[in-house]
Amino acid sequence: MTDEILVEGRRLELTRGDITAERVDAVANAANEALRGGGGVDGAIHRAAGPLLLDELQRRYPEGTPTGTAVATDAYDLPARWILHAVGPVWRGGTHGEPELLAGAYRSCLLLADELGARSVAFPAISMGIYGYPPHAGARVAINTVAEHLRGTTTVDVVRFVLFSDETYERFAGALAEVETE
Ligand code: ADP
Repeated sequence: MTDEILVEGRRLELTRGDITAERVDAVANAANEALRGGGGVDGAIHRAAGPLLLDELQRRYPEGTPTGTAVATDAYDLPARWILHAVGPVWRGGTHGEPELLAGAYRSCLLLADELGARSVAFPAISMGIYGYPPHAGARVAINTVAEHLRGTTTVDVVRFVLFSDETYERFAGALAEVETE
């Protein structure tokens, strides 16, 4: 299953699967503020990348990073060059700045990708697992934030959302269909 659109000639696409297998320049991770690994996609990325990932995070980011931001590391044993560890918000009803914080997590990854010169970036559905962000709203924030970045000046020419379930995929496909591609 693949859906895609072009935004200013850059590709925004969706696929089903496991993000740890993605061959892209940068893989985004749905991390937590402590940056010490965790469950869900974070656990899968740490297992696949190997123990040196945690060493680098502890050495370079001893304080972690706040919600709505991201940091970059090497990708170690993943078939990528970098991992962008983004911290999305825990859903607390929607009145605690969740949409802005979720958009900030995606935008921070894209800005890091530009600094690094990454051309392809894979994202999971940040905050939409253990952190409980509602699927419809979360997919719209994700797609709209990425589409907005692709309309500007960026080194990134492919963004792929790698979605773990059919339900999440369908939500993202719905949000993708609403994007103005002009
Ligand atoms: P958060 O704590 O930000 O909610 P989770 O890891 O719990 O992060 O979930 C984020 C999304 O990642 C969910 O949609 C979950 O199904 C998905 N996910 C879990 N493992 C993987 C994986 N290996 N590849 C891609 N997506 C994954």
